[in-house]
Amino acid sequence: MNNIVIDNIQTLHDIIDHINIGITVLDTHNHVIFWNRFMVKHSGISESDLIGKNLFDVFTYLPRQWLELKLKSVRLIKNYSFVSWTQKPYLFRFNHNRMISGESIEYMHQDCTFIPVHNSDTGETYVCIAIHDMTDVVASQQKIMEINDINKTLEHMTNHDGLTAIFNREYVEKQIEYEFSKAKRYGSLFSIILFDIDKFKNVNDTFGHLAGDEVLRNTASTIKSQLRSSDVFGRYGGEEFMILLPETNLENTAFLSQRIRHNIEKMVTIYDNTEIKITISIGVVQFRPDIKDHLQMVHEADIALYHSKQNGRNAVTQYKITGCNLLNCSLSFNKA
Ligand code: GH3
Ligand code: MG
Ligand code: MG
Repeated sequence: MNNIVIDNIQTLHDIIDHINIGITVLDTHNHVIFWNRFMVKHSGISESDLIGKNLFDVFTYLPRQWLELKLKSVRLIKNYSFVSWTQKPYLFRFNHNRMISGESIEYMHQDCTFIPVHNSDTGETYVCIAIHDMTDVVASQQKIMEINDINKTLEHMTNHDGLTAIFNREYVEKQIEYEFSKAKRYGSLFSIILFDIDKFKNVNDTFGHLAGDEVLRNTASTIKSQLRSSDVFGRYGGEEFMILLPETNLENTAFLSQRIRHNIEKMVTIYDNTEIKITISIGVVQFRPDIKDHLQMVHEADIALYHSKQNGRNAVTQYKITGCNLLNCSLSFNKA
């Protein structure tokens, strides 16, 4: 490949003058000795108006202390220095060409390269500052971040219940399948708590549907605060909820169920200056290797829940192959 030979200093000057990068050269007193067209176009100040003037006298907004130090160190060390827009969004307050509404970019974002230039006549070191317009990059990064935010919102909407903000049925079902197959493969512990609000129809009939909604929200937040981050808590139906407890044995599941039942019994929902109290009936099942699939496990939890309803409600029932077992309600809740 042939090298491009520039034998005419004027040609080189013209190239630098026309490139789409801002170029300025400062002498040892920070007087401007070169100011290319890019700088003229974006600053609105002509080269002839600037040559010989101190940069800081003209651009009074420049971060003087920082820039003087930078220029001094480049002259002293005689090495390149680079400042990315991520560290300092811009040096010069130049307008940018983007006219897209909704973008929050005030000034042209700039990458700045500081290049030491040896003046062989005087033996002094000048500094060339090259300004790269990074605004398009910034704008695309902002767009990507916006898209990521939208995707996160969509993902949240796909997995969560609009009323209670806990997981929705679709998500819970996926997780049961996943946790069940994990337990089946590795023999790990896995329990399900299924519960349903007692006589919820009465709540709606007595206090109105909006009051009922508030009770559902309150129930969800009361229980959520008692669970571990690894537990999956979701709204399984209208006033039916499910908690998946990976790595939890039956004793802890039974204890947690009783605590939940007790806390909901104590819970008061205030709606329109009226106090509303509810109870819940709970069904509990633990993974056993003989359970065929996750659907059978949910079915067993449902049978246990039905048993709690049949036995007066506000109760916890554990499913057993030998028959459902109503758990003693007088557990101590002070257990750590
Ligand atoms: P049980 O103790 O047997 O469970 O009695 P219940 O009244 O709770 O049972 P039922 O299934 O007869 O009634 C459930 C009620 O839950 C009926 C329905 O209108 C109400 N419900 C379901 N989803 C919502 C909801 O999103 N908001 C409100 N406010 N009510 C709901
Ligand atoms: Mg109910
Ligand atoms: Mg129900």
